[in-house]
Amino acid sequence: MKKSTNYLPICLFALCLFGSCGPDKQKEVPQAPDASNERFDKYKAWFVEELWKVYPEWASSQGFHNYDSILVVPDEEARYRELDFSKAQLDSLKSYDPSKLNTGNRTDHQIIDNFVRSVDWSLRAMRAFQWNPSQYNVAGGISELLANTSVKLDDRLKNIYMRMKNVQAYYEAAKLYIKNPTKEHTELAIAQTLGSLSVFTKELPDSLKNSSLDESVKADFRSRCEMSATAMKDYADWLKKTPNPTPKSFRLGKDVYGHKFGYDMQSAYTAAEIYQKALNRKVELQNEMAKISDQLWSKYCKEKARPSDKLEMVRAVINELSVHHAHRDSFQSAIEQQLPKLVDFIKQKDLLYIDPSKPLVVRKEPAYMAGVAGASISAPGPYDKNGNTYYNVGSLASYSKEGAESYLREYNDYILQILNIHEAIPGHYTQLVYSNQSPSLIKSLLGSSTMVEGWAVYGERMMLESGYGNNEPEMWLMYYKWHLRSVCNTILDYSVHCLNMTKEEAIDLLTKEAFQQQAEAENKWRRVSVTQVQLCCYFTGYTEIYDLREELKKREGDKFSLKAFHEKFLSYGSAPVKFIKEAMLN
Ligand code: ZN
Ligand code: ZN
Repeated sequence: MKKSTNYLPICLFALCLFGSCGPDKQKEVPQAPDASNERFDKYKAWFVEELWKVYPEWASSQGFHNYDSILVVPDEEARYRELDFSKAQLDSLKSYDPSKLNTGNRTDHQIIDNFVRSVDWSLRAMRAFQWNPSQYNVAGGISELLANTSVKLDDRLKNIYMRMKNVQAYYEAAKLYIKNPTKEHTELAIAQTLGSLSVFTKELPDSLKNSSLDESVKADFRSRCEMSATAMKDYADWLKKTPNPTPKSFRLGKDVYGHKFGYDMQSAYTAAEIYQKALNRKVELQNEMAKISDQLWSKYCKEKARPSDKLEMVRAVINELSVHHAHRDSFQSAIEQQLPKLVDFIKQKDLLYIDPSKPLVVRKEPAYMAGVAGASISAPGPYDKNGNTYYNVGSLASYSKEGAESYLREYNDYILQILNIHEAIPGHYTQLVYSNQSPSLIKSLLGSSTMVEGWAVYGERMMLESGYGNNEPEMWLMYYKWHLRSVCNTILDYSVHCLNMTKEEAIDLLTKEAFQQQAEAENKWRRVSVTQVQLCCYFTGYTEIYDLREELKKREGDKFSLKAFHEKFLSYGSAPVKFIKEAMLN
């Protein structure tokens, strides 16, 4: 399930916001008017209306502003509404024969079906509302409303004022249902609750000064801000003080993990199968990296004694190559300069069509994202069709000299190119442009992050295989290091949640076997202890897309065209790969 108030440090390079931008072109191939499809289109519109009634805060975060004033109190009644919603939708879905629907509607049917089943399963089996106190936070949604300049300030504040009415009841409900929470989620909740207090103590009171609301309304507003801040502080205190002698383990265990993997990845592979594939890929990559490093040793490290351990030798070569990096003040322009080169390469190799009328805007990361260095793509939500798509580049301004150096070495001249392939061209940005050609509100809202991330990871390998970087061994070595990160994300997630991997073993895996810095590995450990399955989406999606391509290559022989494959694949929008595969193989 997607939550609109997410204060987790989301993967730096995974901020893939779905959305359709540009004019609302109905470019779907005209189909004979078919009663089933017409009926299903109406059903989908109704589904979204109902969805927003059950999840009004999520609606706001997607740019649907009819329910901005509502804050749902997370009590038993609210969960019954979710369960009723799920049941009603499942019943409706059963009245459609998917084989009678066109491809777009069929995949939408499959996506809705999976979503409503996962709602039911999350509440009945996963029950994170009991053990994950960090899922309760009102500040994120409210600060998002405040930042939404498409609504007049006074109206924004009026909506927020109404939302704040329920803040106390919201945290009372949270306290009522939390039982034996995990230590990790409790600590996270305390930090995030206290860390987001400033929405009520600073941001809102400051914005109030610029509004033209009556003085008496302003006074009421300020007192609700104080009430809200107090409720949050009380909640954090309560979490700190409530005895918790038998906390739940943050590890999901094989059974629950397997189910969550099924709902979240919607993959044709099981969690255990993907884990096995990741283990194999890791060995493959390390062997390739050792071969290349051996070859590059005399060029970069000839003064040094060659370590007998092959992984140490690889690390030494990587360290030498990382010295080549952009200056901290020209990091953003280094990114900007690379994008047209990627477009040219794709044209020259005829890898896929790139729509020249939809340029990507590179910008400095806006203030509300600050703190998350790195790069991300933000696309306008499905209700904001004319917005720009941005490539946000984190600023290094607040970094110390050493901090910036370490960061720049990580995103050195080689890795930066792969990052741009992943985020922009032909990765996330290009995929978005294609998915907007066949607009589906369902895919914008519930689209598959496995497909989206998988495509970006697939794109990295595809570009290098097509000769990007002139097959220089340096480029391949650094690509493998980058790719190893996706592979080890999967190994880590499965091992920690299903096989009881310890923190020490995890850090060892990431630093020794995947050549990551200590700080990066520590962050990853924190992430894996408060999320589940999400870390698998990169490698899972990549594997499915790569396997599909190879299958089609075999099947089509000489007739196989890489360009045709890419364009066809992307034309289905952000649907799970297994459904795209079904459609493509038929
Ligand atoms: Zn990504
Ligand atoms: Zn340097």
